[in-house]
Amino acid sequence: MSPGQPLGAAHASAAGTSAGGAGAAGLDPRRDPELAVDVLLQALPYIERFRGAVVVVKFGGNAMGDPELFAQFASDVVLMHRVGMRPVVVHGGGPQIDEWLEKLGKESEFVGGRRVTDAETLEIAQMVLMGKVNTDIVTALNGFGPLALGLAGTDAHLLEAEVHDPELGFVGAVRKVNPELIVRTLAMDLIPVIATIGVDLDGQAYNINADDAATAIAEELGAEKLIFLTDVPGLLADANDPSSLITRVDGADVARMISDGTISGGMVPKMSGCVRAIGHGVGSVHLIDGRRPHVLLLELLTDAGVGTMVAAAPPQQESAR
Ligand code: ADP
Ligand code: MG
Repeated sequence: MSPGQPLGAAHASAAGTSAGGAGAAGLDPRRDPELAVDVLLQALPYIERFRGAVVVVKFGGNAMGDPELFAQFASDVVLMHRVGMRPVVVHGGGPQIDEWLEKLGKESEFVGGRRVTDAETLEIAQMVLMGKVNTDIVTALNGFGPLALGLAGTDAHLLEAEVHDPELGFVGAVRKVNPELIVRTLAMDLIPVIATIGVDLDGQAYNINADDAATAIAEELGAEKLIFLTDVPGLLADANDPSSLITRVDGADVARMISDGTISGGMVPKMSGCVRAIGHGVGSVHLIDGRRPHVLLLELLTDAGVGTMVAAAPPQQESAR
């Protein structure tokens, strides 16, 4: 995974000079300038490699609940942008929609455990995703400067939708991504932040699963990376055992794990999307734990492998990237 030499020698020498520091201070780059330099040097090959790269980040509703993690997410995305990457943030907001449905006393109908999105539920979903969640993310990013622009899939037909399953009401599937608005936003050196409400050709809006939307957007942009932030360490061999992390899977593994039920619930569209994206030209796809502090920077700028990487083929068939 390392794009260049991991600068092991520099690391060793910095670690050596740090050893004399007082206790834990020896490992604190804020108190140890040489360690700080070493940290920057470790990031350098990654910064070089990803300069100009489009990185689509799907931000889930779960990691948004914690103000500290939310602030860290914002600073990570800004840092990505500042070192020359072109982040595109795609967000859901299921927990926030649920919270507002409850606050407003909206009773929901369920089919096979899934909520039916009637006209009123759609209205609330739009208000929450576009009025609240999108605005919160954009505002947090713009706390660092005039950097982010909020968009919705309804803007200029960005996300063209069609009915996903007639039983579920206004839940949409992505029919087509019209990427011009994203491309222009990136050309203005801004970070697009996209709420995944789509629209059909008659002007009817639909709520679209944010994993599906992020996948389709990454494919259409030919993104170098697609990163899903979720609320588990990555893909697990046993969904109830956080220590059963699988660090690398390919399409055949995913198909098997979906058919035998190892992958269930929201992980099904997410993992299907990962495999589809790899097959359609996205450089690499990662599933990482949005609850882990600064997990985006860990994945992008350090030698640490975090979460699950989705590969096109088993290791022996894959040429080195
Ligand atoms: P989000 O889209 O915000 O990441 P989802 O609830 O849609 O959240 O998807 C993540 C959930 O998928 C996890 O919290 C977990 O409960 C569930 N899941 C099902 N199967 C697996 C699996 N094999 N490994 C990890 N998580 C799984
Ligand atoms: Mg989901």
